[in-house]
Amino acid sequence: MTTDPERLMQFLYAIRSKGVTDKRTLEAMEKIDRGRFVKGLFAERAYEDMPLPIACGQTISQPSVVGLMTQALNVQPRDKVLEVGTGSGYQAAILSCLARRVYTVDRHRRLVREAKKVFDALDLTNVTAFSADGSHGLPDQAPFDRILVAAAAEDPPGPLLAQLKVGGIMVLPVGQSDAVQSLIKVTRTETGFDYDELRPVRFVPLLEGMGQDD
Ligand code: SAH
Repeated sequence: MTTDPERLMQFLYAIRSKGVTDKRTLEAMEKIDRGRFVKGLFAERAYEDMPLPIACGQTISQPSVVGLMTQALNVQPRDKVLEVGTGSGYQAAILSCLARRVYTVDRHRRLVREAKKVFDALDLTNVTAFSADGSHGLPDQAPFDRILVAAAAEDPPGPLLAQLKVGGIMVLPVGQSDAVQSLIKVTRTETGFDYDELRPVRFVPLLEGMGQDD
């Protein structure tokens, strides 16, 4: 548990040593207890820098990857952020410490239900979670200052590009689901989009439609 200061220090050290240096990101990761988002057998391993299984055959991302994505997103205090792929809710909770408002969506209703309970328990009142196919974005809440996608598509989905404000940033993994993917940062300019490749990653695929197993 993060009440154990030594474990928390080791957790933060591992994240920093993988290149997460942004102060606000590290503060958010110090504050949000990853142990709250991992259940059952794996809860013991919540402070290791590893992805872990969650319900519905999905995974909570590796903490250093959460840190690197959060840092690359460069969230500002007034920002409205969309996350696609709520999963456990951990990444959304980190974003909620940095942004004005966070919307997060997952195609598995059960994951959204469970994540909402943790947001309530932690009193994170600026996060709203929806069950939806996030590849269409959230037209009713658009446009967004920042978008983070936690599942890999072959290319950045058109609706998400369209829902990004000018000057806005989207961070997402792209590539085939069974191969190594690239984490990329897309910045919307007045005239188009700039693309930066950040590093190789491995994420579950961004799938169409709603999950069937809940
Ligand atoms: N951010 C999560 C990890 C997410 S794993 C965390 O911090 O724990 C990726 C998630 O993306 C899975 O929960 C999966 O159900 C979801 N997903 C895949 N395709 C999706 C889609 N089209 N719309 C919404 N969620 C999707």
